[in-house]
Amino acid sequence: CARIGEGSGSTNVLAGAGVDEAWTTGVLLAKGVIELLKNHKPFTWENLERAYGDRRRASWVEKECRAATHARDGFQRGFVPGLLGMGLTGMTGGMLNVHAKIGRPWEMLKPLKELCMGRIKEDELEKMGAEARVNGNTLHDAVMDKMGWPKIVPDGQLIVSHQDALLMGGKVQAAGGFADHVAFVDPQRCRDCHPQLCAEICSGQAITPGENGGVPNFDREKCVHCGACVWNCTQGRAADPECGNVDFRAGSGGLHSAEN
Ligand SMILES: Cc1cc2nc3c(=O)[nH]c(=O)nc-3n(C[C@H](O)[C@H](O)[C@H](O)COP(=O)(O)OP(=O)(O)OC[C@H]3O[C@@H](n4cnc5c(N)ncnc54)[C@H](O)[C@@H]3O)c2cc1C
Ligand code: SF4
Ligand code: SF4
Repeated sequence: CARIGEGSGSTNVLAGAGVDEAWTTGVLLAKGVIELLKNHKPFTWENLERAYGDRRRASWVEKECRAATHARDGFQRGFVPGLLGMGLTGMTGGMLNVHAKIGRPWEMLKPLKELCMGRIKEDELEKMGAEARVNGNTLHDAVMDKMGWPKIVPDGQLIVSHQDALLMGGKVQAAGGFADHVAFVDPQRCRDCHPQLCAEICSGQAITPGENGGVPNFDREKCVHCGACVWNCTQGRAADPECGNVDFRAGSGGLHSAEN
């Protein structure tokens, strides 16, 4: 069984609606795979790059993605400019866009002490961070408690979020022998990083804090492939400062299945 369609799970990028891109990329990949099978060629990266990559680059999906390059830029200015930008780009086929200066994700993240300023003292925040590290906990619960968020008392009701539903309905177990799709590029960066925002942000609890502040743990069976860890890593990559320290790779398993 193969999972096909690199765009599956995403809406058409230019229109922001419809799943034609997901379908098309799935069909293109299937054609590439059939071609390799017919020619008795192995599924190597190079062969798939030729059989699928070339088809994809020649398709309308590529053209549409190029036209949509700046479709979402307006969101850097706010929600309304973002929506206007998407509309403008969509209606003009990418001729007109709402532009914005886009920083590197890790440079745009504000430090926790700044976000908590005036509400939690810096030394108190450090103490909370140190405690969380020793206990192997994330920090967000303690921060929310301290900020006065009301406690959620279990009431016996089951809340099924959209994310839970995806996990229940569509998580395909990764086959053994494949590497994890989430990887921490430079372990030392993670050891020096506090708080470890990738673990704080991971709503699937697939990333959990490393022991005593060490490299975080990753459990691929809990990952919902949302990408939040990629965009919320606070440390730039030495070899490529455009990226953070989380590498999101192709991998086995995933979210999509017949039930989903
Ligand atoms: C991998 C993936 C791919 C997706 N792809 C697309 C796509 O391509 N196009 C598209 O349109 N949509 C897509 N979606 C769906 C879209 O992201 C969701 O539909 C939307 O974000 C769901 O919002 P929600 O409010 O229904 O629930 P959720 O996002 O699940 O939010 C529930 C919130 O409630 C909080 N919460 C849960 N329990 C409690 C509690 N007891 N007390 C307080 N808070 C609680 C959770 O922490 C969470 O923040 C995708 C989702 C995933 C996971
Ligand atoms: S992946 Fe990024 S945010 Fe997570 S611990 Fe490593 S450096 Fe910190
Ligand atoms: S992709 Fe989402 S669910 Fe998976 S590890 Fe990253 S933050 Fe967690």
